[in-house]
Amino acid sequence: MNVLVINCGSSSLKYQVIHAESEEVLAKGLCERIGIDGRLVYQPKGGEKEITESPMPTHTEAVRMVLDALVNEKSGVLKSLDEIDAVGHRVVHGGEKFANSILIDEEVIQAVEECSDLAPLHNPANLIGIRACRQVLKDVPMAAVFDTAFHQTMPQEAYLYGLPYEYYEKYKVRKYGFHGTSHSYVSKRAAELLGRPYDSLKTIVCHLGNGASICAVKNGKSVDTSMGLSPLEGLIMGTRSGDIDPSAVEFLAKKENLDLEGIVKVLNKESGVYGLSGVSSDFRDLDQASEEGNGRAKAAVDAFCYRAAKYIGSYAAAMNGVDVICFTAGVGENDGKVRAKICGYLGYLGMTLDEEANRTRGEEVRLSTADSKVTALLVPTNEELAICRETVALIK
Ligand code: ADP
Repeated sequence: MNVLVINCGSSSLKYQVIHAESEEVLAKGLCERIGIDGRLVYQPKGGEKEITESPMPTHTEAVRMVLDALVNEKSGVLKSLDEIDAVGHRVVHGGEKFANSILIDEEVIQAVEECSDLAPLHNPANLIGIRACRQVLKDVPMAAVFDTAFHQTMPQEAYLYGLPYEYYEKYKVRKYGFHGTSHSYVSKRAAELLGRPYDSLKTIVCHLGNGASICAVKNGKSVDTSMGLSPLEGLIMGTRSGDIDPSAVEFLAKKENLDLEGIVKVLNKESGVYGLSGVSSDFRDLDQASEEGNGRAKAAVDAFCYRAAKYIGSYAAAMNGVDVICFTAGVGENDGKVRAKICGYLGYLGMTLDEEANRTRGEEVRLSTADSKVTALLVPTNEELAICRETVALIK
């Protein structure tokens, strides 16, 4: 069975075709600059990356181009489109409606649309991808896999904000959390790697990428996570501020003469380690700049690590302990310095890092020493594979 996994943004569409039984990626790539000019990147298994510039006025053309590439005589990996048995769509916000992945029908589309209020940047783009696929692949079953679903197990004390309760009742303003597919995949994989039952572990997953969030997983269920109503809450990220005093919004709006939209743009796109350093949102650049003596770059990374360590501490408290701490995503998988700095705060938990193991990049490995009381693991995330598995499970 082959599953086409789609992650659709407003002007981009990332895809993978995964053979479900072997979990092998047959082809992957992305469409970029949809609605602007259009570029398809296509890479078949074991083959060279191909880049095709071609107009893509809408996502429907983008989907058609991906499908054409997949069945192309020269470098295609499928004989015909009949070999696509299912499509798994990443959907960002499922609100309180979706605690699990679901097979897509008109009713589901409607419900995702109703959640768009909560994720105005993401859900409409995801829906465009769903509609484009339905138009082109007509009867192929499709699943929606939500970033928020895994966190629907959070207890009320974790997801309620200290706001008038009627805002929760009227508008569903609460913590939802994101990166759920990744937190679920990584925490499960950690239990497998340790040979321990998933439902008996207290795990903290640090998904540190350009977007970053931390999740407390107790006995196989998300009990708290750092992102909130939107992905803006929590950690200091690449360009997002994470937690700030809400009063800063009014203060800055007045000082900088910005309207709400302007402030929200600053918080999402001009803040985080990028805004702090004035150098870059990329930790490789920050590392280089710090080495060259740039104090702001160092301060940005220090603040990032400190915030992460504080969240880990609060989740150890929330779960009354922690057995394993996992690092994943671009920074978590590659940046040993960041991992070491974060773990440096965790001595009180009995965490000792194995410096040699901590040189590892992008591979599953135990990062802590054998006698460390808390285990640290590097577990590369694989959201596409997780979406593929969810899709197959629903179809079966
Ligand atoms: P997202 O999916 O949120 O866009 P990723 O998980 O792909 O982000 O992470 C991207 C980030 O990972 C980059 O911005 C960079 O900061 C970091 N990164 C990638 N490779 C390395 C590396 N070798 N060393 C340090 N940081 C890295």
